[in-house]
Amino acid sequence: MTEFDLIRRFFAAQPINRADVVVGVGDDAAVIACPSGQQLVVTTDTLVEGVHFFPNSDPVALGHKALAVNLSDLAAMGAAPVCFTLALALPHADDKWLELLCEGMFGLARRYDVQLVGGDTVRGPLALTITAHGRVPADQALLRSGARPGDRIYVTGELGDAGIALREAQGTLRLSQTDSAIVTEHLERPMPRVAAGLALRGIATSAIDISDGLIGDLGHILDRSGVGAQVALDRLPVSNVYRSLLPQVGWDVALANGDDYELCFTVPPANLAALQRVVDALDCPVAHIGDIVVAPGLRIVDAAGRPYRPHAKAHDHFQNGNSV
Ligand code: ADP
Ligand code: MG
Repeated sequence: MTEFDLIRRFFAAQPINRADVVVGVGDDAAVIACPSGQQLVVTTDTLVEGVHFFPNSDPVALGHKALAVNLSDLAAMGAAPVCFTLALALPHADDKWLELLCEGMFGLARRYDVQLVGGDTVRGPLALTITAHGRVPADQALLRSGARPGDRIYVTGELGDAGIALREAQGTLRLSQTDSAIVTEHLERPMPRVAAGLALRGIATSAIDISDGLIGDLGHILDRSGVGAQVALDRLPVSNVYRSLLPQVGWDVALANGDDYELCFTVPPANLAALQRVVDALDCPVAHIGDIVVAPGLRIVDAAGRPYRPHAKAHDHFQNGNSV
């Protein structure tokens, strides 16, 4: 199979055909129509074998996750996904593997009507880089910098299951088969909170997706907004599986593990009624975990109101060294 056969066979035949994609895969670059009054939102994320996923990972999950982490960034900006490019480094061209990768990637792409419009295919150690493009009405993107004292802090869904799955995969935690299946789904096939991101435009003052752990990612909101926060441990939303493991793992997995791809956002008191209407219509729960305060720094308190000091830190590729 030549490089061009591979591109034609796997990436040119599109299950998604959007009207605003004027030129997709096959020319020197893609051409996309952008309605006036809208702004383009662009994000990119790379998954490297041995760093972000285990060697011999399920290609369906890989295709899903490579796109999901990018759609999650668009969601955190309040952007509607439009299209994406895929830069793929492959050690060798394996038909079956590519078919499964496409199954995972296009499965998610179809769900959000986001079209593959180009990319690059090279030989090399396995790595996938996706660049995703989305749109927001002018100046309505949700930024990290808008949180103000008095705002409430929320997270979507549940935290920590992906971290539990990672510990199980690394052999430091044993789970029943049922529990293992539940948490592994979160690690391998995170669902980007696209609908929540769109619905929060005009309601949230700031937002971020949790890819490096709540502490670290909420920390980015605090830094960029020039504020502090108080978060209550017993308000953190965790799954029943996680709750059953609390005596063993404590709160640190929910606080400091990435890979959940939930949204963390802030809402001022004036917008609480609007938030309630949005939450009623959403496909995911939303939990109030704490509040923005004037004093800088993140203060975490336990159920008795005592300060809690996490043992774990947020993930950082260059500080913590490489880990899967
Ligand atoms: P060029 O040499 O002009 O950069 P290429 O020969 O690399 O173009 O690619 C030919 C066409 O195939 C381009 O439209 C490119 O965007 C597309 N393409 C290449 N690799 C991929 C991929 N992995 N996924 C989607 N489209 C791809
Ligand atoms: Mg060219």
